[in-house]
Amino acid sequence: MEEVGTGLLDRLDAMQRVAASAPGGPLLIVAGPGTGKTRTLTHRIAYLCAELNVFPEQCLAITFTRRAAEELRHRLDGLLGPVAEDVTVGTFHSLGLTILRENTQAAGLVEGFRIADDAERAAVRAEAGDDPARYTTLLRKQGLVDLDELLTLPVALLLQDRRLVDRYRERWRWIFVDEYQDVDAVQYELLRLLSPPDGNLCAIGDPDQAIYSFRGADVGYFLRFSQDFTDARLVRLNRNYRSSAPILAAAVQAIAPSSLVRGRRLDPARLDPEAPLVGRYAATSVADEADFVVRTVDELVGGLSHRSLDSGRIDGRSTTLSFSDIAVLYRTDSQAAPIVDALARANIPVQKRSHDRLRDRPGVTAIARELRHAPGVEGALPARVRLAGQVLADRFAIPTLDGSGGIRPEDVRTAVDLLTPLARRCGDDLEMFLSQLATGAEVDAIDPRAEAVTLLTLHAAKGLEFPVVFLVGVEDGLLPLRWPGAPTDEAAVAEERRLFFVGLTRAQDRLYVSHAARRFRHGSERDCRPSPFIDAVDPGLFERLGDSAGPRRPKDRQLRLI
Ligand code: ATP
Ligand code: MG
Repeated sequence: MEEVGTGLLDRLDAMQRVAASAPGGPLLIVAGPGTGKTRTLTHRIAYLCAELNVFPEQCLAITFTRRAAEELRHRLDGLLGPVAEDVTVGTFHSLGLTILRENTQAAGLVEGFRIADDAERAAVRAEAGDDPARYTTLLRKQGLVDLDELLTLPVALLLQDRRLVDRYRERWRWIFVDEYQDVDAVQYELLRLLSPPDGNLCAIGDPDQAIYSFRGADVGYFLRFSQDFTDARLVRLNRNYRSSAPILAAAVQAIAPSSLVRGRRLDPARLDPEAPLVGRYAATSVADEADFVVRTVDELVGGLSHRSLDSGRIDGRSTTLSFSDIAVLYRTDSQAAPIVDALARANIPVQKRSHDRLRDRPGVTAIARELRHAPGVEGALPARVRLAGQVLADRFAIPTLDGSGGIRPEDVRTAVDLLTPLARRCGDDLEMFLSQLATGAEVDAIDPRAEAVTLLTLHAAKGLEFPVVFLVGVEDGLLPLRWPGAPTDEAAVAEERRLFFVGLTRAQDRLYVSHAARRFRHGSERDCRPSPFIDAVDPGLFERLGDSAGPRRPKDRQLRLI
């Protein structure tokens, strides 16, 4: 545990300190990428608890993804020690679930209600026809709720019961929301119920990184925070600690035409005169682009460790790069395959986040069923999952003609391994574990420490940072993305530009953008032009990279082992 008190604020810059130590009342922190939003948010919670006698159990910290919530929890543990456990940290959905569990009857639900999975929803829908009232009745009869209802039911409940509103306001007197630019209408309504207009609501975000409007998020809520909450204090953080000066300059110019932040400024805290420009590669084809990535990865990882580039350090960071320092980002999932293949052919380890759902893997449903029906087993979930897996593996080891559904013992063992990280995250909360399975928890293949190049979509890369970033397929039609029937209005293009901005600002030390002259899209091979978004960036910030030598063969890693 770190030293709390003033020493704690010493780790922040002047503006971060102003934000972290601001008095109660509504507080909006408008902060660009890499300005230390999470750092500021966690330090504020720690400061309030350590200095202003706020009780950790009065604090509620909300984010949008499970991974972000875990990151918050982890950083709070580091700052506050064991009492951090008393802070409620979660996603909007987990908050809704908590409220429903505490008010099951009032919400018209049965004890032990669960979230319907796709199959259950489809069955109920088929039976109900197009009668929405009937749909809900049938769902309830089976003790089920829809995922959306984790938010709409608590809102309805609070709207009709002022005393309940007061109770929650009394409990969570301090509310913190990260990535506030991605709030949607129901989440916003829930927040307004949980926080009075003059409440201690701290919202942090960056309107220029709003990239989820296709899911109903509305950056308008961010922009009108001061109208909704009385005497809101506004703090801006402008110092970027993440990216080198050329990367940051390119990013700021790229967002300028669509920026939602008046006088957008991002000042580089890192001022290394030797920092490389942004690499730009014009590939002839998708295969050529993939070769470029392989070649450059190979040079960076194989080369930097024995060549003394930048005399071995960039702004105090070691330049000995490993595969885990490198990310390849793209607009659409379908762009990953050629790059994964090319990297794999060169024996470069890769990890790509899988969007497969855990519950679709063989053996997972059997374990979930076993856990649900295991009578009165208490204790930590990882152990319970192992135990259930053991029982099932033994049972399925003897082939039977009954309902084992073709599950093999090795499927069950694999399922146990896949479920263990989720079980660990849920502690001993079985209902949370089962709800997360039902709501589509993914087979999360990304391990930040794994010695592998990471491949991610731009959406999935939000909030992350890497020393080296490749942004591939920066072409008109891909970024901004266009498909038959896609909206082409200004707002849609602006959101695509924000995605480009998110991509550029993931990079710390080296950034490469590339585009191919031909690509297979919409059923045929087409000519492609570079993205118009590139035109907003001063050409002097780019270094054109080697079309001269043609594709060189990467050194063979296996041969080098001999
Ligand atoms: P994004 O908008 O991309 O989510 P962010 O605002 O959340 O960015 P962080 O990820 O919290 O930014 O911080 C970016 C990097 O800068 C991190 O590596 C963080 O440790 C570092 N950093 C932030 N503030 C400081 C500081 N005062 N001194 C040194 N490093 C800092
Ligand atoms: Mg962040």
